[in-house]
Amino acid sequence: MGSWLEGKTLAKRIKEEVKYDVARYSKAKKEVPGLVGILVGENRASKVYLGIKERTCERLGIRSEILYLPEDIEVSSLKSKIDELSSRVDVDGILVQLPLPSPFKANEIIACIPPEKDVDGFHPFNLGNLMMNQEGLKPCTPLGIIELLKSREIQIEGKRVVIVGRSRIVGKPLAAMITNENGTVTICHSKTENLSQVTSEADILVGAIGRGAFITPEFVKPGAVVVDVGMNNLTDKSKVEQMFGQDEKRQKDLREKGYTLIGDVHPQVIDKAEYLTPVPGGVGPLTVAMLMRNTLEAFKQRRNFS
Ligand code: NAP
Repeated sequence: MGSWLEGKTLAKRIKEEVKYDVARYSKAKKEVPGLVGILVGENRASKVYLGIKERTCERLGIRSEILYLPEDIEVSSLKSKIDELSSRVDVDGILVQLPLPSPFKANEIIACIPPEKDVDGFHPFNLGNLMMNQEGLKPCTPLGIIELLKSREIQIEGKRVVIVGRSRIVGKPLAAMITNENGTVTICHSKTENLSQVTSEADILVGAIGRGAFITPEFVKPGAVVVDVGMNNLTDKSKVEQMFGQDEKRQKDLREKGYTLIGDVHPQVIDKAEYLTPVPGGVGPLTVAMLMRNTLEAFKQRRNFS
């Protein structure tokens, strides 16, 4: 049986480092980083995620604002709001919470954020820098995965890494980061043939699909490191019991929230893998920690603080 590769402790350490630095700049320069999140519409999950980001900012001494905009706002008005934030000197980071409701095109909106304030690292300029292995703000979830692997001295160089999922926020930037770390990457997606054959060659397997417990032990090479990015709400009581037995925490989730959070990887994979990141408590906390670090970096870069 393998070990759980938790992200919580590392995330806590990264946030403590950011908090320490923020306090240092606040004392020495009388300035603190400022982050603004934009929420368009009423997506409940998006509200929860932005709330977590806002509370984390508060705890670390980062000034944070959330701009709540109606679903029917004109594209031009949303762009004007971003322009206003772009010219504000007290705003170091701007993030547009995804997904955006239709008819907004995420690519078009994100391209309006100045690259130096793009703390999510999704702007084409920042993604271009990543492709060229140059300095710049990088997407938080893949950044967190790399940090997690490094923190456990899990070797990437020379390893066969298979990523299932090719989104712009996880799969593709992670593939670039792994390549920059000298890993050998294969990206899979919904059109990949013989998926389980490809994934079972991986020394490091990453699931970023958005389908609960999709990756079962048959997809995994014995002794692989498995990173589960997925966040899926499981509401079916019998499936929860099949997967977790009478686990008290899962039962409590069902009673109190009506669902329990599961990943893209079936928990049975722990019996075959060397490491598996849990959901919750694996990659998720690192994403927020890396956002805080990116905000601090944007603040330092913009103000020429070393
Ligand atoms: P996404 O944009 O929906 O992309 C999903 C990817 O999975 C696509 O590339 C899709 O292929 C692929 N896929 C779907 N069904 C598949 C199948 N049957 N076989 C192989 N590939 C398949 O998702 P995302 O934004 O990357 O998010 C993925 C998951 O990670 C979600 O559960 C999300 O909530 C979670 N997430 C977690 C964090 C975190 O902090 N922990 C951060 C971001 C996302 P095609 O391209 O061919 O459609």
